[in-house]
Amino acid sequence: MKALIIGGGIIGSSIAWRLAADGNAVTVLERARLGQEASWAAAGLIGPQAEAHEPGAFFDLALAGKRSFDEIVERLTRESGVDPEYDRQGVLYAAFTEEDRAELQSRAKWQRAAGGEVEELTPRDALKLAPMLSAKILGALHMPTNWRVENRKLTQAYINAAIARGALFREGARVDSIVTAGGRATGVRLTDGSIETGDLVINAAGSWSGEIRGLEEDRIRFYPVRGQILCFDALPGLVGPSLFSADGIIVQRRDGRILAGSVFEEAGFNKSVTLDGLERVSRAARALAPDLASMPFREAWAGLRPASEDLLPVLGPSPTVGNVIYAAGHFRSGILLSAITGEVIADLAAGRKPSIDLAPFAPARFRDGIAHPVKLADWK
Ligand SMILES: Cc1cc2nc3c(=O)[nH]c(=O)nc-3n(C[C@H](O)[C@H](O)[C@H](O)COP(=O)(O)OP(=O)(O)OC[C@H]3O[C@@H](n4cnc5c(N)ncnc54)[C@H](O)[C@@H]3O)c2cc1C
Repeated sequence: MKALIIGGGIIGSSIAWRLAADGNAVTVLERARLGQEASWAAAGLIGPQAEAHEPGAFFDLALAGKRSFDEIVERLTRESGVDPEYDRQGVLYAAFTEEDRAELQSRAKWQRAAGGEVEELTPRDALKLAPMLSAKILGALHMPTNWRVENRKLTQAYINAAIARGALFREGARVDSIVTAGGRATGVRLTDGSIETGDLVINAAGSWSGEIRGLEEDRIRFYPVRGQILCFDALPGLVGPSLFSADGIIVQRRDGRILAGSVFEEAGFNKSVTLDGLERVSRAARALAPDLASMPFREAWAGLRPASEDLLPVLGPSPTVGNVIYAAGHFRSGILLSAITGEVIADLAAGRKPSIDLAPFAPARFRDGIAHPVKLADWK
C-alpha cells in the first residue's frame, strides 16, 4: 500500500514511522519545513495526569499515550540515532489558594481511581523535591510518572526512524485538495498543480487540517490555539520536576534552558509573541519560582495548538471520503499522544483492531451532530 501523509509535524512523522515499519510505501508532504510548527513550539510534557481535567475517554487516551510512548522510546532512539531526552522527572502541581488546594485534592482522588499515580505533598515536602518552588504554596500534587522530552529532538527521531524504514519526506510540498474517484481518495493535488497518487491519505496537517479541500462534507472545524513560551538560561538540573500551577508551567531541558509557559489564546494563525502573553506567562512563572526573576532571559516564541470544536483529538476515517484518515486536533497533548497516534493509525491502515476504543475520537461525530462543542473560554 502507498500512504500519503499531509503534514510533517510530530503526528505525521510518528505515523510515517509506523506505516513504513509495517512495510508500506510512505510519502510525507510538508508545505514548509519538517517539524517547525506546534511540534517545535511545545514544552514537551509526557504528562497524562497534568493535562487532563477530568476522568473519561480523554484521560484514558492520555494514559494509553504514555504507555505507548514508554513502549517505543528505546526502539525509536535506536532506530533513529536521536536521543529525545526522555527525562524521568515527575510533575509538581502547586496550589496557591484554598480553591486550588480543593481542586488538587479532588484531582488526586479521581486520578487515583482512574489508574494514575499521584501523591499529595505538604509545602515542606514539595520544597524538598523542588527547592526553586515558591515558599508561598499551600500544598502540591506530585505526579511521579509524568515525564518530559525535548520535543524538537523527538520529532526528529520519528523522522529519522521513518526514513530508515524507507519513508520519503518532501518539504515545500503544500497539499491543496484530495483527488477522488467514485467517492474514494486516489491521491492529493499539490498547490503547484501536480498530483501524488496513493491508496491511503492521512490528514495530519495540525492547525491547518481543515484547509484541505475535498473534505468539507465531514464538517470538522479545526482552529489554532496560540501558546507563548519564555525561555531562560540556567544551570542544568536546577528545577527538578516540572512545575505546574493553575496559571502556568515551568519545564527545564537537559542543557539547562528553563521554559516558562503558557497561554491559551484564539488569535487566528498569528504566531506573534505579545506583551499580554509575556506578561501573563512571566507573572505565573514568577509566582511558581520567584528565583526565575533574576535569571538571564534567552528568547520567547509562540506556536499554534491544533484544536477541534470539542477540543478532543480527531482520529479515524473520514465519514464521507473513502481512503482518508484523520490524525489531527491534538490540541495541547500532541507530544504525549504522538506514539499512540502512530500506533492506532497504523492499526487502522492494516485492518487491525486498535488497542483502545477510538469511538470518542471518531471524525464522524461532527457530521452526526453528537460532538459536544467546548468554548476555549469555558474549558480553562
Ligand atoms: C506552547 C505550546 C506548548 C505545548 N506543550 C505541549 C506539551 O507539553 N505536551 C504535549 O503533549 N503537547 C504540547 N503542545 C501541543 C503539541 O505541540 C501539538 O499538539 C502537536 O505538536 C501537534 O502536532 P501536529 O503534527 O499535529 O501539528 P504541527 O506540529 O503543527 O504540524 C503540522 C504540519 O502540517 C504542515 N501542513 C499544514 N498544512 C499543510 C498542507 N496543506 N500541506 C502540507 N503540509 C501542511 C505544517 O506546515 C506543519 O509542519 C504544546 C503546544 C504549544 C503551542
